[in-house]
Amino acid sequence: MKISCNVIRDVLPLYVENMASQDTRDLVEEHIVSCENCKKQLEEMRTFEEPPVDTDIAPLKNIQNTLRRKKLQTIILSVMVTMVLAVVTMAYLTTPEYISYNENAVSIIEKDDGTVLLNFSEEVSGFNVEQYPAADNSGYVYDITTWETIWNQEISKNNLENTVLNPNGEAVASIYYYNTDGSENTLIYGDPITDGSVMTLPRLVLSYYVLFAIGFSMICGIGLVIFRKNEKIRNGLERIILVPISYVFAHFLIKGLHSATYLAGRDFYLILLVAISLYFTLLAGRNIFKKLSFKKPERTL
Ligand SMILES: [Zn+2]
Repeated sequence: MKISCNVIRDVLPLYVENMASQDTRDLVEEHIVSCENCKKQLEEMRTFEEPPVDTDIAPLKNIQNTLRRKKLQTIILSVMVTMVLAVVTMAYLTTPEYISYNENAVSIIEKDDGTVLLNFSEEVSGFNVEQYPAADNSGYVYDITTWETIWNQEISKNNLENTVLNPNGEAVASIYYYNTDGSENTLIYGDPITDGSVMTLPRLVLSYYVLFAIGFSMICGIGLVIFRKNEKIRNGLERIILVPISYVFAHFLIKGLHSATYLAGRDFYLILLVAISLYFTLLAGRNIFKKLSFKKPERTL
């Protein structure tokens, strides 16, 4: 029986996969001895069955890497967002609510050995003391302010009773309680240092930082416009501009619209913490956004 080429072609796939019976194998082998076309077909199928391994896996590897990177970015993004939320919540809970002067907030105890003790009431969560020499060299002048926080009211009470004001035995000339509401400071111990009133001004240092950050992002923005055609510079600038932008956002998250602070140190560290988290969040967001916009045609010329 003469077997047609078509029948051989039908069973060739099975033959290549080693799934044909011995009879079929014999038929195929017998046929290709005399049929050059089917022999060619078989060889083609064999080379197709065994493709070069690494070139075929490379795209898969790329997809795997992309997925891994995406997963990592998502993890970083969620960690950073959680960080920002946690810090902002902490900042809110520990925001000092300044206590205006009242008899109960702080009382002064003078001991025989010259030390002066400050006794704070339970409502006081924290206090700040500024010390400077009196003009007439009679000793030091102290400015005290106190505050309460939601954290201390609701979660853990502070024990601030009996804090020593002059641990090294400095002469205490006068102690003022400074009111943060803009009213005059109250003399609570010693002699008045001036005829006029004493007022403590909040530090404005944080406002300068914000202004600097805004100015810096504007310069980067101008750079972005100028170098919009230069991909390398543009990429670098995009990363840099996120630094001041993060700082400004962090400032408003921590401080709201008020820049004046009596606790510049605390506020600044909180802002930095949020700014760093925000920076990496924005960076990850930018990368994801970039990848999405890659789908658009790159060259529009
Ligand atoms: Zn044939």
